[in-house]
Amino acid sequence: MIKHISKRKIRFFQQELLKWYETNGRKFYWRKRRLTNYQYIIAEVLLQRTKAETVAKFYPNFIIEFPNWKSLADADVKRIKEYLKPVGLYTQRSIRLKNLAIEMIKRKGRLPRKREELESIPFIGQYIANAIELVIFNEPSPLVDVNMARVLERFFGERQLADIRYDPYLQELSYVIVEHENAKDMNWAVLDFAAIICKPKPLCLICPLATKCLFYESIV
Ligand code: SF4
Repeated sequence: MIKHISKRKIRFFQQELLKWYETNGRKFYWRKRRLTNYQYIIAEVLLQRTKAETVAKFYPNFIIEFPNWKSLADADVKRIKEYLKPVGLYTQRSIRLKNLAIEMIKRKGRLPRKREELESIPFIGQYIANAIELVIFNEPSPLVDVNMARVLERFFGERQLADIRYDPYLQELSYVIVEHENAKDMNWAVLDFAAIICKPKPLCLICPLATKCLFYESIV
């Protein structure tokens, strides 16, 4: 699917982004190296469809109030809701988070390595499964969401299917991009770049990728 994209172009994308990330990357609590699996998973669940800056404001208090799966499983949904108010769909998310916690207690906090099993856990879809592989199992999986998709599509070319999860081109491309010795930084670099430079209204004039970007080529 991505045979038409040269290795050179992929390397350029990776190198320029990592260089940019070194000085411009955002620092978030959940990017620290030594969090518990619980803390990593909660962060990724909350980050889905919510701005990282919004999550950053309430995440530390959430973790103090609910420090592990047990405290979340035992908590009243109303109490969880109070903490999740800053994010969208907080009623639905509170119920689902509690269910996830109950399931994780049943599993004694262990996460299956097999992809199918991982995705069979309630609330763990493709994105969260990728995040678990990346931050917990240290595998090069992409945090591909609308933001990563926007950067990749502008720079390399558009996807074919509306749903990111099933688009073979975007899926393959995102895996190739994060196939790097530092897959976490590579992922975070793309996400930060999407939030700061390649925003919905992109800042192409100050973009280090502009010389090889398809979207930029089409507008100049
Ligand atoms: S040149 Fe513009 S569209 Fe292309 S990657 Fe940079 S900011 Fe995004």
